[in-house]
Amino acid sequence: MKLQFDVLQKGDYEVINKELERKDSLDVLKWVYNAFGDKLVYSCSFGAEGMVLIDLISKVKKDATIVFLDTDFHFKETYDLIDQVKERYPSLNIELAKPEITPEEQAKQYGERLWEREPDACCKVRKLVPLERELSRYDAWISGLRREQSPTRINTQFVNQDNRFQSIKVCPLIHWTEEEIWMYINLHKLPYNELHDKSYPSIGCEYCTKPVAEGEDPRSGRWANSEKTECGLHK
Ligand code: SF4
Repeated sequence: MKLQFDVLQKGDYEVINKELERKDSLDVLKWVYNAFGDKLVYSCSFGAEGMVLIDLISKVKKDATIVFLDTDFHFKETYDLIDQVKERYPSLNIELAKPEITPEEQAKQYGERLWEREPDACCKVRKLVPLERELSRYDAWISGLRREQSPTRINTQFVNQDNRFQSIKVCPLIHWTEEEIWMYINLHKLPYNELHDKSYPSIGCEYCTKPVAEGEDPRSGRWANSEKTECGLHK
């Protein structure tokens, strides 16, 4: 079976996921890298799941390509973490994908502080369009989605038809709990974003991420002043 978005039918995903059903995340990664090779990319946001996935990927494909959507609006701590990861895994190919326009050009074109007035438009310019551009070079992409993260992610499978990006989305961590993610990070002494220790369970752009009080939904600090809950990458 040719593993390409325009070839696979809905039923093919069911067959693939049935085959992977009893495998653990490492075996899923072995299977997908074997299937897609260099036509597979990991789009990483460098959150806690990202640290686990990078470590697992490095055990399967030492020169895997990892792309970070660099909106220009991330926390300094996130950029520092990327430097640490590059140092720890020197053979991984970590790329920063930039939007077509700079923050200054965006302000001129769309007005100041677009993220406050129209966060969907801002995410489109700084995340969706760059990811679309990056994914057009690959047959499949990896994402760190977990089912328990939000009701919109509950039906995520290991291998998913991604109509938004005309691609195949692979989610090896669907069954992991937050506790398991942190157990893995601590056990393997992985680097992680220091903002996680300052009440930021989910970290995105600085303008759109707030700390979260204990007991609150971990994602409630994202776009806290609007109805928005996802940047649109996983619709
Ligand atoms: S998360 Fe906020 S600042 Fe970042 S691209 Fe989306 S709207 Fe813009």
